[in-house]
Amino acid sequence: MKPFLYAGLLSSGELLPDALIPDIPTRFQGFRPENADFSYSGAVPAGDALARSLNIPAVRMLQMYKEERFLILLRSLGFTTFTKPASHYGLSLILGGGEATLWELAQAYASMARALTESQQSAAGPGPGYRDRESSIRQSADRDSQSRSRVSGPRILDPPVSGSGQSAIDNRQSTISPPAIWLTYEALRRVNRPETETGWQYFGGAPEVAWKTGTSFGFRDAWAIGTTPRYVVAVWAGNADGEGRPGLSGISSAAPLLFDIIRLLPPSGSWFARPEEGMTFAEVCAASGYRAGPDCTDKKEIWIPETGLRSEACPYHTVVTLDTSGTWRVNSSCASLCEITAHSWFVLPPAMEYYYRMRNPSYKTLPPFRDGCADDMQIASMEFVYPPRDARIFIPRSLQGQMMSMLPEIAHRRRNAVIYWHLDNKYIGMTRHIHQAEVRVGEGEHLITAVDDEGFTVSRKFFCIGTL
Ligand SMILES: [Zn+2]
Repeated sequence: MKPFLYAGLLSSGELLPDALIPDIPTRFQGFRPENADFSYSGAVPAGDALARSLNIPAVRMLQMYKEERFLILLRSLGFTTFTKPASHYGLSLILGGGEATLWELAQAYASMARALTESQQSAAGPGPGYRDRESSIRQSADRDSQSRSRVSGPRILDPPVSGSGQSAIDNRQSTISPPAIWLTYEALRRVNRPETETGWQYFGGAPEVAWKTGTSFGFRDAWAIGTTPRYVVAVWAGNADGEGRPGLSGISSAAPLLFDIIRLLPPSGSWFARPEEGMTFAEVCAASGYRAGPDCTDKKEIWIPETGLRSEACPYHTVVTLDTSGTWRVNSSCASLCEITAHSWFVLPPAMEYYYRMRNPSYKTLPPFRDGCADDMQIASMEFVYPPRDARIFIPRSLQGQMMSMLPEIAHRRRNAVIYWHLDNKYIGMTRHIHQAEVRVGEGEHLITAVDDEGFTVSRKFFCIGTL
């Protein structure tokens, strides 16, 4: 489902292809998703998050798009299995909270590829305008169901089981613009060469293909879907009786077969061309991927959907004031105007920074305040990594029946900061460098407070829902 969400956000212009999405431990409406490898990147470009199939950024993106709207989008793409209201699925909808058939999934990819191909064909000739083409996407689905003689975009053979698929074709309409589809396939094409994915090297030399794999809960289904400008290939692997099999995964079980099939098919020719209409060459911030703002220092030009011109400008570059040597932060409380210099700085919120700087050595944390300079608190210096806001936490008991501890954690920008911890307003200890406290709590509501050596304070309320 993640590619459709990414495409939907690009299409509406709410997201640019490589805008940073937070990837930090987060609790959403009663659940706490984890990435498949239990790691956090702090912040990831949206396209990479899709290529790596990261769960936390996906939930963030659904939070932006909203579940109700996403269900409408999925239904418009021909999915008939999402029959319940949005409240039933919640944000887990994007993590497989709703089930789809492989047939409908393949159809959705094919209809998007067909829309893209047709937009290019109509742009090449004296075809209909952009608006008309949206309706031609709808009509193409109808044409496809009636006549299979015209060769345009990728097509699907008849379903193995007749019935449900056909009505979906008739009702299908695309609400995703060709530019968004093209960018989505570009991101999925990157799945061919992610640094972090294992197994991809076995597929070296394979034809260009935008692909995605998945594994359902309980290892019951492993699937892989690949799209080329001429074909959509969908592979399912599993036990016919539906019994799970540990170790079954889309990447190891279904993807090799997908690539074998694609190699056997006649070549697809050149890759999808960039749509001529509805795209614009725009300046984005090289660090954040957002539309470049006045304080962004390093900018680059990329192709984005025209709708993306409405997207938010970079929120992460901010002007900070340093002393003339550039090593200390100063302000009017401690420095004369002539020794204050303004610099544009790329500043992520503390929890994002905490994970981001581990993977991005070029990230420069803000210089500390010079002695005697009061932090004007314009930029937060620390925040909780754990527990999340208003968390309901389950703490197991040890074998001896003792309540186990929980580990609140703070991200602080200053490496040498000291943090003093308080639980329910009682001092419990201090930390340096790694700010993780170990606390034992009983059932009920608690307040954890962290005070740093400069006197700044952050607190979090959480609720311990007890034990087995
Ligand atoms: Zn910027």
